[in-house]
Amino acid sequence: MQSQAIKRVVIAGGGTAGWMAAAAIAKLMGKHLQICLVESDDIATVGVGEATIPPLLTLHKLLGINEAEFMAATQATFKLGIQFENWRDQGQDYIHSFGTTGQDCWAAGFQHFWLKGQQVGLASDYGDYCPELLAAQAGKFAHLPNRPLNYAFHFDAGLYAKFLRTMAEQHGATRIEGKIAKVETCEQSGNITALQLVSGECIAGDLFIDCTGFRALLIEQTLHTGFDDWSHWLPCDSAIAVQTRATREPVPYTRSIAHGAGWQWQIPLQHRVGNGLVYCSKYYSDDEAKALLLANLSGDLLTEPRLIKFRTGMRRKHWNKNCIALGLASGFIEPLESTSIHLIQRSIVRLLQMFPLHGISLADVDEFNQQTEHEVLNIRDFIILHYHVTARRDTAFWRYCQSMPIPESLAHRIRLFKETGRVFKVPNELFGENSWTQVMLGQGITPEQYHPIVELMSEQELSHFLSQIKLQNQRLVAQLPSHQAFLQSYCPAM
Ligand code: FAD
Repeated sequence: MQSQAIKRVVIAGGGTAGWMAAAAIAKLMGKHLQICLVESDDIATVGVGEATIPPLLTLHKLLGINEAEFMAATQATFKLGIQFENWRDQGQDYIHSFGTTGQDCWAAGFQHFWLKGQQVGLASDYGDYCPELLAAQAGKFAHLPNRPLNYAFHFDAGLYAKFLRTMAEQHGATRIEGKIAKVETCEQSGNITALQLVSGECIAGDLFIDCTGFRALLIEQTLHTGFDDWSHWLPCDSAIAVQTRATREPVPYTRSIAHGAGWQWQIPLQHRVGNGLVYCSKYYSDDEAKALLLANLSGDLLTEPRLIKFRTGMRRKHWNKNCIALGLASGFIEPLESTSIHLIQRSIVRLLQMFPLHGISLADVDEFNQQTEHEVLNIRDFIILHYHVTARRDTAFWRYCQSMPIPESLAHRIRLFKETGRVFKVPNELFGENSWTQVMLGQGITPEQYHPIVELMSEQELSHFLSQIKLQNQRLVAQLPSHQAFLQSYCPAM
């Protein structure tokens, strides 16, 4: 145990990661701590990161955030899933939605019943059995008291950081504007002791949170923690982002449209649309990528297209010495399933659970790192799945993705599903059976068999079982107003 008690927490960086950390730590631990966030007006935030996943609601509950106020302040819309277009093959789409599909029985997931139903001509699209997916397709949303939909948000990242900043400052966190010129360390322990700003000001602390984005000023540039590079599995390394004026009502899902060497995102907000192209620079030059993106946009440009370079992979330790890395400073998988903000949240909650108020325990540090790594590796596998399992062979990029060796952990999951139709969520994994099944089916894996328990149902019973679920879902979706109508009543500032 490091004897030094933690009184002063210094957060370096004020993007989404920095302000999420400041708001949460100030609100939940602020009475015991002095919290200071340093950010530089001269160094822009990454400015993307606008699609989220449902666990964000848990953090919002913990922070006591009023949803309608937050949505009005950040121009947010509801998100029920992601539509993957041209991923399985050109011209083929599927939705990975939140929520559950059908009903499981104790021995077998719903997909087994559906597989038999397909074989004997009794089942329609897998998505017909998931209310969130049907609502997304219909462009509808509401908070239903009896059967709440599982949802997340699209929001304006800059406005979200502002919203959290207000909250953090209300709970006593202070902000210092200034560029960090040097990070000071203790020669004996190797711990970080202070941030020295260009102005000459020195900010001393006991615990440092590195939220400096891809620069990773503390965790990497100072502590040389090391990075596991995953670009052989996730070869995209560049993005161009641009905002456009909306030309239609916002849909309650993110669009992910695959192109020859990457994919394009469309994130509809109340006041505009966030767009971007994620691509692999080995196959597209930056100019080609920009032209491709601009040719596939609708609506006037509201910003200049902005180039972002990145490397996929993970910091070898997320907590090293007295420094914890959050957000892009801790690594980056790929924005494909909107998991980065989620990982920030998870690390914040984990830090709060293990907060070293009386000194840092090395056992806590190891536990923190093990839990984080476990979580990130499962997400990494899930993202690789989208690239690897594809019928696309039209470009060198897709041929590479399809033929690349993949982690054995993922290869096993694919084999298991293909041979048996089974998929299991591992403990503390983000994506559950419904997500894996939707994406594996959506990308074109058809299991060779279904669970024999399905045979306990006669075809008549199976037909009734499937049609009842479908009918209930159709009735549920029929009650919903359009997403736009709901937003207008819920966030009257629109
Ligand atoms: P940044 O936003 O880069 O903030 C860094 C901060 O550090 C800034 O405040 C800067 O001023 C400060 N700073 C840096 N150096 C210094 C210095 N020397 N002195 C003082 N201050 C300094 N995530 C999702 O969850 N959903 C998505 O849809 C999504 N889409 C993405 C798309 C792309 C193309 C990319 C690249 C990322 C995406 N992400 C997404 C990830 C998401 O953007 C980030 O996880 C999130 O924005 C957090 O960023 P950050 O706060 O770590 O870094």
